[in-house]
Amino acid sequence: MQKPYLKQFPDTEGYFGKFGGSFVPEAIAKAMEEINNAYDLIAQNGDFIGELRKIRKDYQGRPTPIYFAHNLTNKYGGAGIYLKREDLNHTGAHKLNHCMGEALLAKFMGKKKLIAETGAGQHGVALATAAAYFGMECEIHMGEVDIIKEHPNVVRMKILGAKVIPVTFGAKTLKEAVDSAFEAYLKDPINTMYAIGSVVGPHPFPKIVRDFQAIVGVEAREQFLEMTGELPDIVTACVGGGSNAMGIFSGFIDDAVDLVGVEPLGLGNKFGEHAASLTYGSEGVMHGFNSLMLKDSSGEPAPVYSVASGLDYPSVGPEHAYLYTQGRTQVATIDDKEAIQAFFELSKCEGIIPAIESSHAVAYALKIAPKLKGKKILVNLSGRGDKDIDFVVKKYGYGE
Ligand SMILES: *Cc1c(COP(=O)(O)O)cnc(C)c1O
Repeated sequence: MQKPYLKQFPDTEGYFGKFGGSFVPEAIAKAMEEINNAYDLIAQNGDFIGELRKIRKDYQGRPTPIYFAHNLTNKYGGAGIYLKREDLNHTGAHKLNHCMGEALLAKFMGKKKLIAETGAGQHGVALATAAAYFGMECEIHMGEVDIIKEHPNVVRMKILGAKVIPVTFGAKTLKEAVDSAFEAYLKDPINTMYAIGSVVGPHPFPKIVRDFQAIVGVEAREQFLEMTGELPDIVTACVGGGSNAMGIFSGFIDDAVDLVGVEPLGLGNKFGEHAASLTYGSEGVMHGFNSLMLKDSSGEPAPVYSVASGLDYPSVGPEHAYLYTQGRTQVATIDDKEAIQAFFELSKCEGIIPAIESSHAVAYALKIAPKLKGKKILVNLSGRGDKDIDFVVKKYGYGE
């Protein structure tokens, strides 16, 4: 019998087909190997598994429910629309799933401090939360531009006890924050742990983050069967780096279920207007891994844009690149306008304000539902939209 997909991939070098791997300087390679070996051991450890289960239940509020969006389903008159409510996770998004796992791994490895980068601040807040829970130090590197733009999240991180390090070189945004955080980590890899924010980066991060997020899919499959007696026809999620999508896809990957990743089309399909790396990208290495990425004419990471700051990354998790090029997953795009429409639709029809990131997946479901009567669509609602309300109202008003 063939091994289940999740046991087969990645291979021992961190490859999903030709994607993934570890393209890093010697010093980082050694630190990554240490994390990989520790993870392989610790992930089998009964104490580790038991403590993670307890954290998920008592602290995070898992399992998160699946909700049948009956008003939207009636209004659109086609497929049944179901939501996996990751917005109900403590801190309001799926990110805590991997942050608590990474922090627990750090604790088992005897580390005292967590280091990471953050773009919009969502990963920083989730990691600062995990650090507070475990009584660990936390250092978040953030571009100066983002510090000004994402002020509330900077305040949150500081209240939670994290140190926010402003990154002042280059474009002063996410890419430079990654470089700065890695540099800080390499100064003391013995006492610190680098905790990445998605299924990206060098091996073993794409695997570790996927494994911690897989709980979303495991729960969803069981809940959906119990609720409806069958599996969904389509499972969909937004894709930035790809962690919430890999989380829910993991539960259905060996089933005859369509898996659709939704990428941000931003303002349009011209270079610089979007962040649809799977749709328009080509093979390339960035941040230590090989994947599909958006490049400029000199092969460097291209400028990207999306109304959802959690989705504007010029590459994508290598596992997504593999699954997509193998034909196991499909990819759709949703632009800013469609995402904002869906943001208001879900808010006004169901009383759930979604994150703008998650609104991309909701928009896709609303787009295809009318033509799919008798089918069932499961949407991963990756996060709640409280963080986005001021921005949305200022730019778009209150919706019709
Ligand atoms: C960060 C974030 C995303 C994008 O990250 P993935 O790794 O692609 O899941 C999506 N939704 C929310 C709510 C986020 O905070």
